[in-house]
Amino acid sequence: MFSPDDTIVAIATPPGRAGLGVVRLSGPRAESIVQTLLRRNAPLPAREATFTTLVDRSTGTRVTAIDQVVVTLFPRPQSYTGEHVVEVSAHGSPVLLERILKLACSAGARLAEPGEFTFRAFLNGRIDLVQAEAVADLIDAVTPLQARQAFDQLEGTITEHIGDVDRQLFHLIARLEASLDFPEEGYHFIDADELVVGIEQLGKQIWSLLSGATQGRLIREGCQVVIIGRPNVGKSSVFNYLIGSERAIVTEVAGTTRDLVTEVVDLNGLAVRLVDAAGIRPADDPVEAEGVSRARQALGVASAAMVVLDRSEPLAAEDRDVLNETTDTPRLVVLNKEDRPARWSPVEVPVGTAEISVEVSARTGKGMERLREQLGALLVGTTSLRDDPIVANTRHIDLLQRAVGALDAASDAARGGATEEFVLADLQVARAALEELTGKRTPDDVLQHIFERFCIGK
Ligand code: GDP
Repeated sequence: MFSPDDTIVAIATPPGRAGLGVVRLSGPRAESIVQTLLRRNAPLPAREATFTTLVDRSTGTRVTAIDQVVVTLFPRPQSYTGEHVVEVSAHGSPVLLERILKLACSAGARLAEPGEFTFRAFLNGRIDLVQAEAVADLIDAVTPLQARQAFDQLEGTITEHIGDVDRQLFHLIARLEASLDFPEEGYHFIDADELVVGIEQLGKQIWSLLSGATQGRLIREGCQVVIIGRPNVGKSSVFNYLIGSERAIVTEVAGTTRDLVTEVVDLNGLAVRLVDAAGIRPADDPVEAEGVSRARQALGVASAAMVVLDRSEPLAAEDRDVLNETTDTPRLVVLNKEDRPARWSPVEVPVGTAEISVEVSARTGKGMERLREQLGALLVGTTSLRDDPIVANTRHIDLLQRAVGALDAASDAARGGATEEFVLADLQVARAALEELTGKRTPDDVLQHIFERFCIGK
């Protein structure tokens, strides 16, 4: 995919101005390239921050000082990538950082591709594929719980579990193969009962990893909640209250939320994308009709809906339409404008008995805390978010399921008295799935797809 012989360079900090900006180099020539950019000639000490002046020698005989920097050399193999790595901490000016990049490139470095630093760490065995994916998840995390889940994965908890299963599987396979190698002796290195027990034990271990997968995915991927209701019931006000800002336009004129306004909020660790949608109703105005159609689409992919009703106005036919449209979506009925005299009783609302309604006032904030709690409960169910490391990535889930399926087939074959070859073939499918997961045997296109997700400099 990339050539590991090159020395690569990239700005590791986000674009824009900041107090500091870090340029990172990795590869065989990282140290010598950086040396050409420094005023000092002495070799860089390993893993020690060195304060020095960065210079530009490309301008003829004149040496121009361009910044004071802190340079750290991490010699191979104890570096992030497993190669020589040099980090240059300069002042966080985009023009300055760009200049350092250019100078490094003129001195023989090449601009890094997205994810190339982490890819090298993977190639050099510093981390496995599951951990490389965790780096991307950690960088992308928007809630502390997401960051924690990604960090557990980076720390190697999942890797350890899978490594454990893989080792046991390897032993079973080796013993079966030994039995096959000496057929004439009629000697079996593993007896049939022990084989079945061994296989089923492995299946159980994988199942326990998979048991938290739904929740893991919910944490990792977040979910979408659509706020829906007829115009003027207070959808934008509820939305604004929840995001704690005034991003959506609150207005007295009916039907102005034509476009969908979305914002991600941290709801007890879950990244919830809130969508402030128009009411779903027949609209003559083409712009409004577009808004309604988008609201419908948003509802189609939402994990839940918040149906907002205005208790200070009589229940309208449009309110009933919205309720009818959302019967198939898990929903929370929000009875808004609690601060004003109520014009109807909640029992008049045609909703299922198990459905929850919450009385709130988006104006005074009353009931909003309960609304958050109820929404959280609706999204994660009754179980609270667990603390143990869990599988969260769809690629991992698919491969673990493939491994479990193959182990089931192997145990069925072993129970049915099939010959060793059959059992062995299934066990090898299970092992291949685990190896694809950790990156020991992963097709190039899958690797490419994984590392494309990274930004440059990671
Ligand atoms: P939307 O069309 O459903 O998005 O409704 P808006 O959020 O734009 O609110 C419509 C009107 O109702 C605005 O004048 C809000 O100030 C008002 N409003 C919203 N929530 C409340 C509430 O809880 N109490 C009162 N008294 N007024 C509210």
